[in-house]
This record gives sequence, C-alpha cells and structure tokens, in this order.
Amino acid sequence: MSAAPRFARIAVPSPLSRHFDYRLIAGEPVPAPGTRVRVPFGRQELIGVVLGVATQSNLPRDKLKSIRRSLDAEPLFPVTLMELLVWASAYYHHPIGEVMATALPVLLRRGLPANAAGEKRFALTEAGRQLSPDALKRSPLQQRLVQALNARAEGLSAAQLTEVASHWRDAIKRLTARGLIHITEEPCQPPKLAGQHRAPQLTPAQQAAGAAILAASGKFQCLLLLGVTGSGKTEVYLRAIEEVIARGDQVLVLVPEIGLTPQLVTRFEGRLNAPVAVMHSGLNENERLCAWQMARTAQAAVVIGTRSAVFTPMPKLALIIIDEEHDASFKQQDGFRYHARDVAIKRARLENLPVLLGSATPALESLHNAQQGRFQLLSLPERTGAAQPPRVTLLDLKRLKRNEGISPPLIEALQARLDRKEQSLLFLNRRGFAPVLMCHDCGWLAPCKRCDARLTIHQRSRKLRCHHCGAEAQLPVTCPACGSGNLHGIGEGTERIETALARLFPQARIERIDRDSTRRKGSLEEKLRRVHAGEADILVGTQMLAKGHDFPDLTLVGVLNADQGLYSADFRSEERLVQQLVQVAGRAGRADKPGEVLIQTHHPDNPAFAALAHHDYREFGRYALAEREAAQYPPFAHLALLRAESPKPDAALAFLRAAHGHAENLVEAEPVHLMDPVPSPMERRAGRYRAQLLVQAGERKALHDFLNIWLAQLEGEKLGHRVRWSLDVDPVEMY
Ligand code: ADP
Ligand code: ZN
Ligand code: ZN
Repeated sequence: MSAAPRFARIAVPSPLSRHFDYRLIAGEPVPAPGTRVRVPFGRQELIGVVLGVATQSNLPRDKLKSIRRSLDAEPLFPVTLMELLVWASAYYHHPIGEVMATALPVLLRRGLPANAAGEKRFALTEAGRQLSPDALKRSPLQQRLVQALNARAEGLSAAQLTEVASHWRDAIKRLTARGLIHITEEPCQPPKLAGQHRAPQLTPAQQAAGAAILAASGKFQCLLLLGVTGSGKTEVYLRAIEEVIARGDQVLVLVPEIGLTPQLVTRFEGRLNAPVAVMHSGLNENERLCAWQMARTAQAAVVIGTRSAVFTPMPKLALIIIDEEHDASFKQQDGFRYHARDVAIKRARLENLPVLLGSATPALESLHNAQQGRFQLLSLPERTGAAQPPRVTLLDLKRLKRNEGISPPLIEALQARLDRKEQSLLFLNRRGFAPVLMCHDCGWLAPCKRCDARLTIHQRSRKLRCHHCGAEAQLPVTCPACGSGNLHGIGEGTERIETALARLFPQARIERIDRDSTRRKGSLEEKLRRVHAGEADILVGTQMLAKGHDFPDLTLVGVLNADQGLYSADFRSEERLVQQLVQVAGRAGRADKPGEVLIQTHHPDNPAFAALAHHDYREFGRYALAEREAAQYPPFAHLALLRAESPKPDAALAFLRAAHGHAENLVEAEPVHLMDPVPSPMERRAGRYRAQLLVQAGERKALHDFLNIWLAQLEGEKLGHRVRWSLDVDPVEMY
C-alpha cells in the first residue's frame, strides 16, 4: 500500500513560474485536483488551485506551511481541463498560478462559493414609491435613479442601472440607507429557450460541409471551413450545433472580440431551441459567474464567448467552433499571451473531439495546415442565393486627384448610390480628423511627449490625442514653435471624411462608426439599427465595420487608403490587410443587388489586390506562403519574441544583449536562431523605451527546449531586474 499523501502542489496566483507545496490539513479529506484552497503566502493569504497531491516534497517539512481551508467539495475544472491549463502554462512559459487565475471567473478568484452566482436586483420599497418627486430635488442623480426604478416594479439589475447612470453606486447606497430601496438576490437563471426562426434549405456545399463535421464527431479532428463572405458559414455552424445538442451534448463557439455583436447572439438564440450562455467582456462579474456556472453544470447547451471562454468547463463538450479563426483578438497581447485558437485545438485533442475553424480569410498558418492535410478543408465557394461576388476596381492614386481623400470615380459612384437610394460604405482604418498637425510656416509637427509618434487631431472635441498612450492636449490655435496661426491637419481620418462627405453630399445621411463615435454604451447598436432601418445613406468607418454585419441595401464599398500596412515592418501586415479588405468588400451586395468595391491605392500592381479582384483568397495564400517559406517565417518556422521595456533609454537593450549572451552558450548544438536585439519599431511608447529580440526555430520542440533553459537563466539575470520583460510564444504582433 502506498503512503498517504501529505502535501499538495498548489498553483498560487504569483508571478513566480512554479507551483508551491503546502501541508494538508490533518484529519480533513485530501483535496482533489481542480479545487480551490486558501493558503498563506508571504504575509498575505491567497487563493490557489490544487494541482495534485504528493507523499514527498523537496522542501523540509518544517519549512512548509499548511493549507488554511479547502473551498470546494468538487473540482471546478475537470481532469482534461487541468491538463490543458498545465500544458498552456508550459507552452506559453507563463506561471501556472496566473494561468489558473485567467481561467477562473473573478468572483471565484476572490473565494466566493462556486454556486454563489446570483444577480442583485434593486427595487423601490413602499417608502421609496411614496416619495414625493420634490424630495430629491437636491440630488438630480438620485432623482433620476428613483424615476427609472419607479417605472419598473420588478426592479433593475446592476447592468440596467449602469444604463441609467454610469456612476450609480454611491447614490444607490444612500437611497438604500434611507430605506427607499431594497436589494434582493436572484439565483442564476438558466438561459431561456428561443429558437423560432426557420432554417433555410442547405445548399449542396453546405450539406457536404455539415456531413464532414458530423463524420468527425467523437474523435479529434481539425476542420477548416473556408467560405467566402455570405456563403453561409454561420448556417453550417448552426446546423452542426443542432445535431450535437440534439444528442444532449454541448458546443463551445469562440468569436472575435468585435464579432460578438448583438446580431450574432440574436441569430444564434433565434435559431437554436436550446439554452445559450454568452460570455464577453461586457458582462459584470455576477453575470460572468452565472454563465460559467450554466456551462459547468451543462444547463447551457451552447456557450458563445470571446477568447477566454476557451477555458470554460463543459462536461458534455462535443464540438468547438471558432468563427473568424484568423482574427488577431484570439491572441492575448499581454500577461498570459495565449492564442485561443491554438489552445482550443489542444483542448479538442485532449478531449477527443472535432474543432471547426471558419473564415473567409483563414490565417496563413491554418491554410498551410489544410494544404499539408493536418486540417480537413471544407469549402463554400459561392455566396448563397442569387448574390454575386462584388466587382472590384482599383483606383490608381498616382493618377487621380483627391478631394479630401476621395477621388472623382469614388465620388461619382457615391452619387449613383444616392440617386438609387442604396447604401455605401467608406472604409478607412484611421479614426480622428487627421493623423498629423503641421505648421506650414516652420514645419513643426505636433508630437506626443511620451511616444515616438504624432498626435492625432480630433476636431469635434478640439483635442489632440495620442492613439498609442492616450495622452491628450487642447488643439492649439497657434504654433508653439514659431507662433504662426498657419496650422493644418495632414492626411485623413474618419472624422475628416465625414465632414468632407457632408460638404460633397449635403442631402445625404451619414453615419460614422468608429471607436470614438461608439464610446457610449448602446450607441453602436443604435447606429446599426439606423443603418438597417434605411435611415443612413453613407457609412464611414474603421475595421469595426469590416466584420459580421449584414447590410442588405449596401451596394458600394470604397476603401480610401489600402496602402496602410502594405509595406510595413511586420511580416504579417500584408496578410492582415488582405483579410481586412476581403472582409470589408464582403459587405457589398449581399442580397439580390450586385455590389461594387472601389479601392484607392498607389500600388495597383501589388499581387495582393489581384487575388482580391479574383475573389480567390487561396491564390493570395499560395504566393504569400511562398514568401513566408523563403524568409523562414511561420508557419515554416516557430517564433518567440523576448520584449523588454524601461523608462531608462538603454536598459531594455542592455538586458536583451545580456539575454543574447546567455543564449550563445546554449544554442551551439540547438537548431535555434537568435536575431540581434533591436529597438522596437516605435521605440518610445508611454514614456518607456522598448526593445525586442526574436528567436526562430525550425522545430517547435527545439524552440521550447531552448526556452526552458534560457528563461531559467534570464530569471537570474541582474539587468532583468531593472526592466519589465516578457516572452511571447507564437507572437502575432511583431512589435
Ligand atoms: P457567412 O457566415 O458565410 O458570412 P451567413 O451564414 O451569414 O454567411 O449567410 C449569409 C446570408 O445567406 C444570411 O442572410 C443567411 O441567412 C443566408 N443563407 C445562408 N445559407 C442559406 C441557404 N442555404 N439558403 C438560403 N439562404 C441562406
Ligand atoms: Zn510654426
Ligand atoms: Zn503617446
């Protein structure tokens, strides 16, 4: 008989990259892996997750502290999910305690019971209802809240109160103290059933895709659904989901940050006759815990969520779907830098189930995997119904004069749409009025004090803003260098285009959609509603408009400047540009009206545009992959990027040079290649100097073997204490 375990290995939320041993509580049941415990840690008490138990510890017994308390009778994470988290910690070289914390809803990180979720509801008491309207005259905020509550006998949730007034908490506290409001807590409600919309008859291509997904059930298999925009990918997802949930199983659907629009959720809920839990960044902590609970108890058949939903426990999970799988928001850009698509594939492998990646513009990595036969390729080459692909025309900016960024052929095309009462969309991936403020007398350019960047003009708010660090200044009237009043904005942002359009087409109704114009909660929904209701003629917007929206009356898409990102330092910039253009072009002519796409560029001969005009993303894929192979970039090599930053000018580079030195002793025998440390493309950002060192390897295993030893050395490197440094495995942003 083996000895009884006496120690537990605990993942503690700490930046240290290892787990910690604790003594078990005598006389209590041995805690199961995946349960939470309270443990002493330094001078504080933290909540950790049990990784396993052991009979031995490397530390002497009297040095070990004891677990204070077990928090869960049942594991929060099933065994395969624990395995996934441990794998992710090793693969991304990120501390296990922080990985576990990422996977837990915030309320559980704070130690609340796993079934604690309940939504607070605020309602007026009898005294509150009797209150005369004048009684709160001196507090307009309290007055507003009481009015809103008066209109709703059943009370309001925290989220609803936020819609009434963003800073409601203090006011509500005061009203509660005066006995005017009472608070109740409702248990988590299982999501309701909807599902009244009828499904269309699938096309043969959709049927074939559906059959392939069905054939893969019960085993690990990656399927790549490559379907042009409007080809009915979502319809394929819905049908596959229906099949899976009819068997009583669960489906996880991952969508990009921006793709989780109310329309998408409504479409899913409207079609699936099953409880759907939605997880996104807009939820409050209670709602998030509720959704998590519904998933973990299998009360939700379908979970739709952004990146971090990939870690949701789902006991009956049988299919994972990743929509817009190429989207960069699946990669976390700070802290625990995981890629939700890659983690999902690993999860599917561990849980032995199929994973479906869908996109009109797959990542080159995924396209390559399909070509190599690792992913099964399913394709939907045509738009559904009578919808034809839009006609794509390139407008050569070398030959065309522009009127505030808009060339004559584009102006003509816009006029034609206005005459026909159809909608147009102008795409420009730059918000604000103009990206540069310049003095025409002395050449002064308004700089950001904390970044190597120019300030963007925001005419509406009369401000200069840095789009990199958020710094703000008043728009100057005279030049701070020479005193001249001859200040002008150079280049165009969405705000300027909006103004130009208003001048060119005074009768047109213009709707601008970008981060600035949709800051207020609900404003994006309101704008989209107006567009759908035909209350807008021309939409101007950034990439917020590129994805997921279906505008049936939209027949013209104009791309104002396709050259941003065409020749950039990042080897992925061209791929990203083509993806964006294909997506935005896909907004034109979705229904029975043919669409047209006009692209303004200085480089009409660039092969990226040819693929776009031919509606052949795979053509782009072929030449782009050949370029990647020649340069030994992913997917033909594996990368890790070591970044460092410091407020001191040379500290980051000094650390990276030391890191490079450590590596030289290691890599002789290893097939790993280190580039020289270099300053980042924008060296100074928010007052910090940044530098980076790229590591490249032909084999994944060689890369990770090297990183394991190297990182251990870097943790002891003195120069590292003076900078902030981090490692990014499979980086998506190269700076
Ligand atoms: P994607 O996700 O590829 O962009 P969608 O699934 O949103 O495409 O489909 C585009 C449009 O075509 C939607 O309005 C959808 O309802 C419709 N649609 C999809 N499949 C069919 C079909 N088999 N028959 C008729 N209409 C369809
Ligand atoms: Zn000047
Ligand atoms: Zn700045």
